[in-house]
Amino acid sequence: MPELPEVETVRRGLLPVMEGQVIAAADVRRPDLRWPFPPDMAQRLTGKRVLSLRRRSKYILADLDSAETLLIHLGMSGRMLISGVMIGDYEHARALPEKHDHVVLDMAGGARIAFNDARRFGAMDLMATDAVDQNPLIAVLGPEPFGNDFSPAYLAARLAGRKTPIKSALLDQHIVAGLGNIYVCEVLFRAGIHPARLAGDLTAPEADRLVPLIRDVLDEAIRAGGSSLRDYQKTDGTLGYFQHAFQVYGREGQPCSTPGCVGTVARIVQAGRSSFFCPLCQAIHR
Ligand SMILES: [Zn+2]
Repeated sequence: MPELPEVETVRRGLLPVMEGQVIAAADVRRPDLRWPFPPDMAQRLTGKRVLSLRRRSKYILADLDSAETLLIHLGMSGRMLISGVMIGDYEHARALPEKHDHVVLDMAGGARIAFNDARRFGAMDLMATDAVDQNPLIAVLGPEPFGNDFSPAYLAARLAGRKTPIKSALLDQHIVAGLGNIYVCEVLFRAGIHPARLAGDLTAPEADRLVPLIRDVLDEAIRAGGSSLRDYQKTDGTLGYFQHAFQVYGREGQPCSTPGCVGTVARIVQAGRSSFFCPLCQAIHR
């Protein structure tokens, strides 16, 4: 499932072909994905200029000159395929729609953008731009991890007294928006905090170091996405996923990467999701 860095990578890949450009034609090839598409979606997109392409949590938001905003959610398997333009050093002819290309946007600049989603957990919706913040998907979100509102003091206040594991607290989108299972595992490893410790039991220094570590981990992944973006564009113009080296995620049974540590990465299941951690670097008892 794409997490915030992957979504940000897709947004950056779409910027040069979408932002400032007019949607010349929209082909909506089925009535729904995870939810029904909004009424008359093709007509409401056609002829509209994309004023800006931004991101909130894992949603890409395209503000149109019709005062509406197109919300795009990649879901579990959503990808964006760009063709019809020079991408990097390679020219990609406009691709004929493939089986799972559910929405195809032809930009006046020549690019064809296909939203491909084999599992159909993705979504697209249209709403008034000035009502985006009240949209039910958006209104529940806590602050962005890179935003000024997400400060150590804010996080400490939200964790104080909380009787849930720190892993669950960081996955709670009301507390911070956009963090998913993979990156929470990585953050807790770097912070030396066992994923099962109760959020309210963290010491002040532990809570304090989480905010900068969250930003570091996400920022590194976004940078990795930027380099993978160039690779993807070289191959087939597909935006969606990239390989990134993780320190603990998916590494059960492998040696801990902390210099001098003789620990082995372990896995436990919390709320149905795997947590990977080093039992020595992230001792449960402090
Ligand atoms: Zn270790």
